[in-house]
Amino acid sequence: MFFHDLPEIPEEFHNSETGAPFTHCMVCECELALETQPYSIERAIRHYPEMELKSVVFEYAMCAKCLHALEKDLSESTKQAIAGYFAEHFRAAERPTWTRLTSEEEVEPDFTCSDWIDQCSIKGVERAELYEYSLYARCIGDRIIPDVAPYMISGLAQDDLIELFSNKSLGFMDGFTDKYFTGPPELKELFKGRPILV
Ligand SMILES: [Zn+2]
Repeated sequence: MFFHDLPEIPEEFHNSETGAPFTHCMVCECELALETQPYSIERAIRHYPEMELKSVVFEYAMCAKCLHALEKDLSESTKQAIAGYFAEHFRAAERPTWTRLTSEEEVEPDFTCSDWIDQCSIKGVERAELYEYSLYARCIGDRIIPDVAPYMISGLAQDDLIELFSNKSLGFMDGFTDKYFTGPPELKELFKGRPILV
């Protein structure tokens, strides 16, 4: 991969506390800028369209190694159900594409983040109209990898997805959260029982 051909991580995926890109994996606390492995970002947002107000419910970055470890322990039936749901409902055809520049071209990569995240990739609803949604991205170093992600999933689609999680997997997620989540306790409760989708 030509690392420098990738766009810089857009503001939409910055850590809201620092206003800068995430620096550490939430689970193993590895330093993301020094890693050669990709990592995922999720930012869950509550939105009050009438007041044009947004608040961050929670947000984190997780390295590929930790994400893989987490996925490995999900039940087979849950994994299949989620993959099936995405295969059926993910509106891939309506999403922008991104063509990587060749390394000889000295122009900024053409990437407009809002084109990728302004509609729910499952339900097609506009972000401006939603009360709850999550933004997902896959990054490496200080760059974003525009491919399947980034995307936005509305609260409506998340409700569907949570239904697909078998009880066994939910139990596992609780255990995982108890073990690794180092953030504030009120965020920990919110994080429990949620599917991780990137
Ligand atoms: Zn990690």
